[in-house]
Parts: sequence; C-alpha cells; structure tokens
Amino acid sequence: MREGLTVEEAQDLILEATPILGAETISASDAAGRVLVDAIVSTRRHPPADCSAMDGYAIRREDLVGTSIAKPKTMPVVYEVPAGGRASRPLETGEAARIFTGAPLPPGADAIIKQEDTDMGDERVEIRVEPEPREHVRDGGEDFEIGDRLIEAGSVLGASHLGVLASVGRTIVSVHQRPRVAILSGGDELVEPDRPTDAGQIVSSNSYTLAAQCREIGALPTYLGIAGDTPEAIEIRMRAGLGADVLVSSAGVSVGDHDHVRDVLEKIGCQLRFWGVLMKPGYPLAFGIIEPTGQLVFGLPGNPVSTAVTFEEFVRPALRKMMGHRDIHRPVVQATLSDAIRKRAGRLHFVRVRLEMTSRGILATPTGNQSSGVLTSMIRGQGLAVIPLEAEAVEAGATVDVQILDLGFFDRRERGF
Ligand code: AMP
Ligand code: MG
Repeated sequence: MREGLTVEEAQDLILEATPILGAETISASDAAGRVLVDAIVSTRRHPPADCSAMDGYAIRREDLVGTSIAKPKTMPVVYEVPAGGRASRPLETGEAARIFTGAPLPPGADAIIKQEDTDMGDERVEIRVEPEPREHVRDGGEDFEIGDRLIEAGSVLGASHLGVLASVGRTIVSVHQRPRVAILSGGDELVEPDRPTDAGQIVSSNSYTLAAQCREIGALPTYLGIAGDTPEAIEIRMRAGLGADVLVSSAGVSVGDHDHVRDVLEKIGCQLRFWGVLMKPGYPLAFGIIEPTGQLVFGLPGNPVSTAVTFEEFVRPALRKMMGHRDIHRPVVQATLSDAIRKRAGRLHFVRVRLEMTSRGILATPTGNQSSGVLTSMIRGQGLAVIPLEAEAVEAGATVDVQILDLGFFDRRERGF
C-alpha cells in the first residue's frame, strides 16, 4: 500500500480502479441528468412534411408577383387546411387555401401569406403583399431526417434532449446505472442529530452532507448508521454495506488508538491501495477495493470539512465516471484573491472562498476560519481555491484557480438583457 500521495496521484489511482456502470432501461421522462449509452439515430422525419409556420393563406407565389398594399390582389379561397388536416386536392393557379399553423402545405403551394397581410376573407381573400420564396413555410425534415444521428452516446440528457427523444418516439431509453453508495459514520462520541447531547458528544453531520453530495449528482445513498469505536462494531456495519457499489465511511482512519477502519477494511477483504494524501484539509484518506466484487471503498477523514472536501476531490469524480460522465470534474475559473494566503509547503490546500462577479472578473475571498471542523466555512463559500503543494504564500491580488462548488453565484437578480 502506498502512503502520502499527491492529490493527482490519488485521483489517478482511484479513477483507474473505477468502472463505468452498465446500462439500464428507463422511461425517457425520468432520464433528465442521465448519460445515454447508445447514440440515438432518427427513425422519423421532423416535421414529416412541409407545413405552415403561420395562420394565413397558402398560395402559389407566381400568382402574386407585384402585389402590394397599393396593388392588392383578390383570390378565391378554395378550401381550408386545419392543423392536423390535409389538403383535399392540389392548389391550382390563381387559388388560395385557408391554412393554420402546423398544417401541411397543399401540393402546388409554395408560400404562406400570414393573415395579418390580408382581409381574412372566407370565400375570397384580398392579399396585400408579394411573398418571398417559401415565406412562412417550415420545410419537411428541417429539424431532422430519417437516419440523422440526433444524440451522441455519452451525452448528458437535458430537457431538450428529452423533447427530441419524444419527437422520434423514444419513450424508453438506455442510460448508465446510478451507483449505490453505502455511507457509514464512526466514533464513540457521535450521536444522531435528534438525540440530546452532552459536552462529551458530537452530533453526527457527515452522513447528511455525504448523502446530499451523492444525491446532488444522481448517486443513490443508503445510510448504515454510526459504528462505535470497536473493530467489531465497525465490521458489522461495514458488512451491511457490501452490496453497494461504493462504501464511504467517515472518521476513524487516522493513526489514533481508536482508529480501526483500516484494519477492519483489510479484514473484510478490502485491498487498500493507498493511505494519506498531501492535501489540506483531508490528509488521512484511505482507498481500497473489495475483491472479487470490485466495490470501491473510501475511508474519509472525520472532520466535517475534510469529509466534504475529500468527497468532492475523490468520491464525486469516481461516482460521475461510474454514471458514464466524461466531464467528471467541477468547473474551474481563474479568480483574483482578495487577501494573502500563507501556508507550509508540502500539501495542496483547498481554501474555501466566497466568489463575486466584479467588473474586473471574479473575486475570491477566503471565508475566514479554515479549520477542518468549521463546516459553516463551506456554506459561506461557493468554491475551493487551489493553492499548490509547494507554494508557501499567495499574495493578495494574485490569480488563483478556483473549483466552483456552487454555480449559483452566476445566478443574478437582474435580467441579463
Ligand atoms: P476521527 O477521524 O475519528 O479522528 O474524527 C475527526 C473529527 O471529526 C472528530 O472531532 C470527530 O468528532 C469528528 N467527526 C467524526 N465523524 C463525524 C460525523 N459523522 N459528523 C461530525 N463530525 C464527525
Ligand atoms: Mg474518531
């Protein structure tokens, strides 16, 4: 087992060991946010035929050359084509047909006059414009033709994708499965949030944070409860999580006398791949694989900020890879640092920062106390400034990379136009 990896090395090892989950077939209406397994090739043409984009009159353009408000032309209205209907016969020279939006263009017609450019007559219509070629005609197949590749494999399905799937009659769709994540908390001091606490106890919050971080990306968390600080208690709870795709435990992976997680992991057949990552918060992190199932096991540090940040950096990308995502990492922006940051060389720091759009770009302000026990520092910020391993200081005004955890800071109160 390796010890003291860089964040990059640790991420690489984890992602190499992370499988992409297989397919499941689900209702397209439930598929928002899921990743498509196979490309969608159209078996339909859309629209199926040339049709009208306006309520008005279908005509033959050659009949209306030179027509204007000053020189209107009156034509007989020979039939009507409602939406969903069809022309009863081709349109002959000198004729107009009443037509409505979405109705198919009569054979012979080659433009639509919108009704506002007419007197809207029933039996005869006075037309006051000369139309452009194919004006207000929506071409058959303008959206897609039979055989068009509409959505590539690996696409993340959004609202418009689901609309397109509906247009080609795909009401079920094959997407990558979602990983089941078993979440375990550990520590004799921990109590569930609804229990009374005394001075020696700590309310367990990590399972809530972790479950929400899973749900945010579509993974399926289950909670295994709190294990006391004995190998037996940890083993019983951990075994209950062996059916999941991923096991995430928090706390008890350090080097204290009561930190049994690593020993128990080895006992239950977990091959530990590494322990300890050169980062702050979050050095004590264990990662392994249970053979022969290939279940991934993350032993995250217990301090709430360390738990949340190590989930962000290691568990989240792995879960996204499992779900078929190709873009597994958070967006990164360059921001100007408001205040100097001092640190020791030797660890990469993730500093919680508040982000603000200013006229000179994005400003990143550290959220104050960066202790790994201060979870409120996470709610005050929207991103993690990445301060490199070997850096000892970054000055105020310097440009830093910031991973964005909460894109909400791009949301605006004012409209953008
Ligand atoms: P440990 O890794 O067991 O040394 O725990 C480190 C710190 O994290 C201790 O102060 C714990 O009380 C705290 N901690 C551990 N698990 C949780 C949890 N589930 N929720 C909140 N704090 C925790
Ligand atoms: Mg502990």
